[in-house]
Amino acid sequence: MTMPKNDNEWKKKLTPEQFKVLRKKGTEAPFTGKLLYNKKSGVYTCAGCGLPIFASDKKFDSGTGWPSFWEPIKGAVEVKEDKSLFMKRTEVICKKCGGHLGHVFNDAPQTPTGMRYCINSCSLDFDKEKSKKISLK
Ligand code: FE
Repeated sequence: MTMPKNDNEWKKKLTPEQFKVLRKKGTEAPFTGKLLYNKKSGVYTCAGCGLPIFASDKKFDSGTGWPSFWEPIKGAVEVKEDKSLFMKRTEVICKKCGGHLGHVFNDAPQTPTGMRYCINSCSLDFDKEKSKKISLK
């Protein structure tokens, strides 16, 4: 599979909501994502390119309405300062396709890292088989 090169190619591959989030840095409405309450064990992959991003054992319920994780798979994401919407936030993007996944905050003292990767459900796919095939560390 080749990686889409421009907006038109991404539009063919993604749903309108995924396009808005992954390619235009949108945010899905809270408490709407299909993976919010997913508790199965497996791997969360980038909905744009399939790169494994989070392991299910690093997911926690933050109560914010978006799937939350305390640590990504090593090397899977890049973070970037985001000063939009009059806030200083840290954006989380997929290392492989550059897709916007969400933001990361250091407001989760209940987790081992203290971090909350606040991720749009529609930017992820869930694969319950993958954890058996790949090394997560
Ligand atoms: Fe990706």
